[in-house]
Amino acid sequence: MAATKLLIIEDEKQIARFLELELLHEGYQVNLETDGREGLEKVKQSHYDLIILDIMLPGLSGMEVCRRIRHFSNVPIVMLTAKDDIESKVMGLDIGADDYITKPFSIEELLARLRVALRHQIKDSSPKELHIGDLIMDGTRHQVTRNGKSIELTKKEYDLLEYLIENQGIVLTREHILEKVWGYDYYGGTNVVDVYIKYLRDKVDEPFEDKLIHTIRGVGYILKEACGRGTE
Ligand code: CA
Repeated sequence: MAATKLLIIEDEKQIARFLELELLHEGYQVNLETDGREGLEKVKQSHYDLIILDIMLPGLSGMEVCRRIRHFSNVPIVMLTAKDDIESKVMGLDIGADDYITKPFSIEELLARLRVALRHQIKDSSPKELHIGDLIMDGTRHQVTRNGKSIELTKKEYDLLEYLIENQGIVLTREHILEKVWGYDYYGGTNVVDVYIKYLRDKVDEPFEDKLIHTIRGVGYILKEACGRGTE
């Protein structure tokens, strides 16, 4: 089984380094970012099992990073803060953090909370397996296979495919896809949808005989099994 992958977003070098070493020692795979904005980008680009997020960060505050992550992901977030006032604790949970830990903390306490947050995540997302034809999307392992062949997708491609499968058989406009997959605060145009549909087609459709992604000219896209064949 692949190692659990964590991202630490923390600008205090000593704490970050300490955490990184302890978590590596526990067998986690660990990435480190020291800037809020760069941390957010990292979460958008790759899959993580849990995020450890400091509140006072350069670039973008931890609260804002958390709020934005929740637009596109349910990844568990444990927030770190030097402020132990009840107000920021409530606020952290309110914007979608799973837990909250006050500095200075003991590593045992943090590890215990990480385990709880990870367990909840596994329970919440339990056997979410999506199918269309011979394509299987395994939500718990974040894996996609078609006709038994494993397909490597980036996070955005994965999210797009997931959305298409959940809405299979329905014509989806570019605007709708953009809003659901990229989120409300995405300022680019709908061209990005076409670009990512092409990426997906190259991986999911091109190597196979039957096409799943269909263009509805002037409207958008639909995911469906090829019709007019055999049993269906
Ligand atoms: Ca800080």
